[in-house]
Amino acid sequence: MYAGRIVEQAPAARLFGHVRMPYTQALLEAIPRLERPAHALLPVIGGRPPDAATLGRQLPAGCPFAPRCRRVAGDCLAAAPPLAEHEPGHRWACWHPVGAADAG
Ligand code: SF4
Repeated sequence: MYAGRIVEQAPAARLFGHVRMPYTQALLEAIPRLERPAHALLPVIGGRPPDAATLGRQLPAGCPFAPRCRRVAGDCLAAAPPLAEHEPGHRWACWHPVGAADAG
């Protein structure tokens, strides 16, 4: 979930092996790993989440994750992507999912 909305949904094995939503990808990258060198900095998601006080009201147009997304493109700012089933049993809300051609 991001900004109060489901942004990706799939069975766990599917999600971990075929992540599509950039926010989910960033969360998974932030998981501490034993194989990383000791004292290595954890990856972080830059920027800040939307203000929780505004979540009950209308969010601005566009994808709520856009200010923090490394795949953001112009269309991301125009309209929020709907949560839709793009592959059997796997739903995500993103115009430029992980694994697709680079956003541009
Ligand atoms: S719709 Fe655009 S800004 Fe939102 S997660 Fe996908 S690529 Fe990033």
